[in-house]
Amino acid sequence: MKERNNSGVGRVNRREFIKSAGAGLVATQVGAAPGAKTAAAATASSARFVPGGGLTRISPNLYWLRDTCNVYVLKDGDRALLIDFGSGHVLKLLGQIGVTRVDAILHTHHHRDQCQGDARAVAQHIPIHVPAHERYLFEDAENFWRNRRVFHLYNVRNDFFTLTRNVPVAGVLRDYETFRWGPYEFLIYPTPGHTLGSISLVGQVDGKKVAFSGDLIHSPGKVVNLYELQYQYGSTDGVDFAIFSLSKLRELGPELVCPSHGEPMPGPATGMTELMGKLRGWYEAYSPGASLTVENKPFAVTPHLICAHQTTSTFYALISDSGKALFLDYGSASGNFFTCFNAAAATVKDRMRFVEHTIPELKARYGLKSVDIVMPSHMHDDHLNGFPYLVRHYGPKVWCYENMVDVLQNPRGYNLGCILAEPIKVDRSFRHGERFKWEEFEFTVCHSPGHTEYQMAMFADIDGARVAFTGDAFFPSGSGSSVVLRHNVIFRNWLESDSHVKSIRTILEHQPTLVAPGHGKPFLSNKEDMEDLKRRLDDQQEYFRNVIADRDCNFGLNPSWVRFYPYQLLAKAGSSPALELRVRNYRSKPMQLEAALVLPVGWKAAPEILRMTIAPRADAADRFTVTIPEDWDRGKPRVPFAADVMADGQYLGEIAEGVVDLQFEA
Ligand SMILES: [Zn+2]
Ligand SMILES: [Zn+2]
Ligand SMILES: [Zn+2]
Repeated sequence: MKERNNSGVGRVNRREFIKSAGAGLVATQVGAAPGAKTAAAATASSARFVPGGGLTRISPNLYWLRDTCNVYVLKDGDRALLIDFGSGHVLKLLGQIGVTRVDAILHTHHHRDQCQGDARAVAQHIPIHVPAHERYLFEDAENFWRNRRVFHLYNVRNDFFTLTRNVPVAGVLRDYETFRWGPYEFLIYPTPGHTLGSISLVGQVDGKKVAFSGDLIHSPGKVVNLYELQYQYGSTDGVDFAIFSLSKLRELGPELVCPSHGEPMPGPATGMTELMGKLRGWYEAYSPGASLTVENKPFAVTPHLICAHQTTSTFYALISDSGKALFLDYGSASGNFFTCFNAAAATVKDRMRFVEHTIPELKARYGLKSVDIVMPSHMHDDHLNGFPYLVRHYGPKVWCYENMVDVLQNPRGYNLGCILAEPIKVDRSFRHGERFKWEEFEFTVCHSPGHTEYQMAMFADIDGARVAFTGDAFFPSGSGSSVVLRHNVIFRNWLESDSHVKSIRTILEHQPTLVAPGHGKPFLSNKEDMEDLKRRLDDQQEYFRNVIADRDCNFGLNPSWVRFYPYQLLAKAGSSPALELRVRNYRSKPMQLEAALVLPVGWKAAPEILRMTIAPRADAADRFTVTIPEDWDRGKPRVPFAADVMADGQYLGEIAEGVVDLQFEA
């Protein structure tokens, strides 16, 4: 550019440059279009460019505008549905094709070039629908920016391409659900890669199966850039996602792919395959030996027991002679699909995203006809993050060990490691030692604490093997004769000094011949290895007692012995919700406990002081009522609180806390 010459000629040069690039610079007072007055008001503070070209007709009811991204216009009479929005310039062109009203905008992902003009749509009351997984990057963009880390940057995901202002969201596009508009139906298909939350919209348009694919593919064999495909420092994580998404989208057999950059691609399969090949080539050259999610395959441990061990946690499908399946765990498609949502998606409102896996192979190769029951070995998200999807799309019943019921159904209640945010309704629960029959198999369920308090061990005779499903009670390392069973300690998971020992004792008592762990492949049970682990766990118990100052050492192991329920309270401004204080007394004598709530200014608690007597080695609970001011500041939607605590005359201070997420009337 010729910017160096700035003696008043610079401005002309710049304008000429813009013209030559096919665009014109205009202020936003573009009075001609209906509603443009308010649109101008919303963006009046700055100048904007406009795209040079006009609408191109792809098929009778489908049009395309090259803006900051491709904007697709789907027509139904005088109404339109827009896929992505770019600068919003499209609104001024719709009259040319007889459109008088835009019913909705659907976004494929949150990048600014897709939605930078959304304020114009809001000013015209056009509803904006966004991918569920990226909702917060639209309506809570400003909060994202307040929290996005820049120093010590290892989460290199390009969420920096997020809007600078909040945009109100009218609807969310949930993975695998259908969006209906007029005579059209679009499958909302998860295609992570270019962003973690990207979707494609797949449906029939003018007699063709069309996929609006965002920036998954630019043109045959090409992506718009590679930097969006790296979330974690130095990794190829997004490349793995893109290959998986391309493969799944190709299976749907679109006849036309409409990308956000580049041009609509008829007969896209070859170009998608070409791109997958190139991405795979780079992935394999850069990370030799690493496996791709798309290649994960289950295998038969015994004729009826199928195992998928390359998924984030190992999951088991026990398939009966009738073709019904009991799933034990069902987590993410791969370790990569799990860690990206922990390591690269790091804001308060980020959530796990689930994509379907393994079920097509179970149907094709192992006779799966229906998913009848799903059971979690424990309540960790890496083991049950596919449950909500299974329940919605395959309709299984959810069964679990009794102490997991409330954690699954009310995840906001707890502050424990690895909780899935989405509630899961439980249909049946089991007590310690309870037996049950399902199809031709019999099971025994036992409590198996340690890794987490909320874990079971389950035993069953399957094809002549006595199988122990052990969740994360231990992890085999090494192979052959040199297997060492390792365990882990996570204090936030509710740990007591004898938890692990209880667990290994129960497993040993049941004398399994085959162990089916929550990570890694099943292995033949070896009593000596387990005895060896038990010795180390006995030592651990002794170590805890030695190192912790309080002689009831569980006070030094469990950060939640005094805790609030729920931990994350959801409440309306102006309401008076209850907050329960729960206490476990690890002493061998009764405990006298007093607690006072520490609240924001203007909030009230009753009673002022809660007094509880907790029996020896027992639990107790009592409640406060909190009154939240009606006119609470909308700019403070998440508010922490604490309990100031005295126990047996000792002032412990504010040792318990929680948060309130405020809901406001619209
Ligand atoms: Zn993009
Ligand atoms: Zn696990
Ligand atoms: Zn776990």
